[in-house]
Amino acid sequence: MKTIAVLGSTGSIGTQTLDVVRANGDIQIAALAAGRNLSLLEKQIREFHPGLACVWEQQDAKDLRERVVDLPVKIVYGMEGLKEVAVCEKAQTLVTAIVGMIGIIPTIEAIKAGKDIALANKETLVTAGHLIMPLAKQQGVKILPVDSEHSAIFQCLNGERECGNSHGELFKILLTASGGPFRGKNRRELEEVRPEDALKHPNWSMGRKITIDSATMVNKGLEVMEACWLFDVTPDQVQVIVQPQSIIHSMVQFADGAVIAQMGTPDMKLPIQYALYYPQRRYLAGERLDFAKLGSITFEDPDPETFLGLKYAFEAARRGGSMPTVLNAANERAVSLFLKGRIGFTQIYDIIRYCMDHHRVMEAPDIGQILDTEQAVYEMIEKRWPQSS
Ligand code: NDP
Repeated sequence: MKTIAVLGSTGSIGTQTLDVVRANGDIQIAALAAGRNLSLLEKQIREFHPGLACVWEQQDAKDLRERVVDLPVKIVYGMEGLKEVAVCEKAQTLVTAIVGMIGIIPTIEAIKAGKDIALANKETLVTAGHLIMPLAKQQGVKILPVDSEHSAIFQCLNGERECGNSHGELFKILLTASGGPFRGKNRRELEEVRPEDALKHPNWSMGRKITIDSATMVNKGLEVMEACWLFDVTPDQVQVIVQPQSIIHSMVQFADGAVIAQMGTPDMKLPIQYALYYPQRRYLAGERLDFAKLGSITFEDPDPETFLGLKYAFEAARRGGSMPTVLNAANERAVSLFLKGRIGFTQIYDIIRYCMDHHRVMEAPDIGQILDTEQAVYEMIEKRWPQSS
């Protein structure tokens, strides 16, 4: 029986991972980690019986311990707790469904311990792809994409080769984007956007941070960088194409001009299940595509001059080194400030731009330097926008 551990079990990807586990009935849960949602985590512990569970705060760990005192589960907390979950002996695969750069260290620890990674936490590859991909290769572990676009690309490549290997015949990746809730709006209209508007994605139901990233198109930019690491291509080999119905989840173009697309209704359970059972394909309940009903699928170019997140991300991807970390950390902080109502929507772009302009790039940062860069970016933002923090 396959056994997994899940980082971020109470989030959008985490709960859908557990839906897939519940529906299939043949995967065991060795460990779960969440942030602060103790009541949901308690329910998950009662249903899936992990031997280990982690929360972020020490006090929450005490409270959780009391809630599940009748069960044989060890409760841990903080970064040490996340690492314990990541390397948990019984699990063969770690699902990284935690949000943000906090996922880097546990992911590295899991790879070192020989776990396959079902990777949703794209921030990990964006900031530390140059460390993670070679380490995975060296340890002989698989990095299985959970992000729908990257799973689509993986499926288009027909699983012939694992992520991280070069695909000589792969010419170009056509990374599809829905365009988000503000597709077609101009810069002035974007200035008026409030958090509640930005949290309404037309096609996907996701966590708050990624929903805002989709609205700014920073998410698509992060996905470009993620694709470069997973499929060993340059940013210039990735073309973003807007496909508002979210039916085509991405495509690959081969050296001979052939294009292969992966399609389906927008449902994250498909890529999650594909990653958990790869290379096996299993039945998944849910709506099927009806092409006659659909009628048409449309395409358009993105508008990187309005949705500057995409433009800045391509710039950071081409520059490489520590620049993607700067973009990512500046975005994480800016999105958090926007969600608290402390800055406007387009200030997310201003903050990213400012931080990228004031950073001296390190070419191949190690983990310590990546985390120091993150901290330096937060301090830069605090100094420049003190009223917002
Ligand atoms: P959510 O915000 O829905 O969930 C985040 C999860 O991380 C929650 O379980 C949360 O716990 C946990 N978490 C947050 N902070 C901590 C912490 N300090 N310690 C431990 N756990 C913590 O995010 P999503 O599920 O939407 O996204 C997760 C990742 O997957 C992101 O990197 C995102 O980019 C990526 N992704 C998401 C997709 C989606 O459809 N949602 C699609 C593709 C990729 P709690 O709630 O208990 O505080």
